[in-house]
Amino acid sequence: MSHKNIALFVAHVGCPHQCSFCNQHIITGKQETATAADVDAAVKTALDSGCRDGQLAFFGGSFTAIDRPYMMSLLEAAKPHVDAGEISGIRVSTRPDAIDGEILDILKEYGVTAIELGAQSMSDEVLRKNRRGHTADDVRRASALIKEQGFELGLQMMTGLLGDTDEGAVFTARELIKLQPATVRIYPTVVLEHTELARLYENGEYRPQSLDEAVNLCARLLLMFEDAGIRVIRLGLHSGGNVEDGYIAGAYHPAMRELVEGRIYLDKALEKLRDFEGGDAHRYKIFVNPKEISKMTGQKRENIVQLKDNNYICNVFPDDGLKKYEILIEEEDK
Ligand code: SF4
Repeated sequence: MSHKNIALFVAHVGCPHQCSFCNQHIITGKQETATAADVDAAVKTALDSGCRDGQLAFFGGSFTAIDRPYMMSLLEAAKPHVDAGEISGIRVSTRPDAIDGEILDILKEYGVTAIELGAQSMSDEVLRKNRRGHTADDVRRASALIKEQGFELGLQMMTGLLGDTDEGAVFTARELIKLQPATVRIYPTVVLEHTELARLYENGEYRPQSLDEAVNLCARLLLMFEDAGIRVIRLGLHSGGNVEDGYIAGAYHPAMRELVEGRIYLDKALEKLRDFEGGDAHRYKIFVNPKEISKMTGQKRENIVQLKDNNYICNVFPDDGLKKYEILIEEEDK
């Protein structure tokens, strides 16, 4: 079940060091970290706006590694709202090496329902190069514990990290699928100001993915997770922070998911169109689920233009009988 997140930020709090790519002040757009008073205020705002099953979400840091009195002050502020049924639960994001039985007991007692782990890669070498400070086995161990204790597990991965490749990211996705999370977030790496990656990029020691490379790879990853029945709840950094101000290089687009889903439809259409006789340009009708028409068409009709560049003149039509990502193609004159 999905709930609206009432997000509060604890930017970098609890992080033992700064990972190569990370600048939470830019990503979240917040300099201040949440306080107990902020928890009450955020819940009140959500209730005033009619939100009845929101989930309080602490993002942007390593929640379970926050120094204990501060972490407890946030949980103590949140719990009465869970008990009163004003929010449906609490979601936290944290590091895989900051999970053990003791902390999970505390989280459970205070109404935490979902835990997201920043896995980022399942290659130990990529994790080391990006200064993550944990291993792929930490991700496996923490994921198993979280699921055993009955929490909803979320996993986050990145593409285009220092030392990573497309095949490396596909391997990471396969390993994450084995852990059977309920949700996944995929973040193509963006080079942000005041990060180690920015320094390496400026010295010519790191080449980020282009937007097109990231879109192609994320199209593969998204299909892998969806085929495995795992919901991808985020693709690309949120445009709500200060990413556009702190951006130096890399694959950032405010509508990354739309681009990726559009690419899935373009690839599928091209694959099917190759089954038709070649020769001069032909006209085709492409049928998709009515909700998916804009994805098939692409942003600014980009997919239709690309199909035309490949000698396929296409128009898109709705068909209620088709599921997401299913397409049917007919020659127009038939
Ligand atoms: S990626 Fe996570 S653990 Fe690393 S610095 Fe950022 S918030 Fe902290």
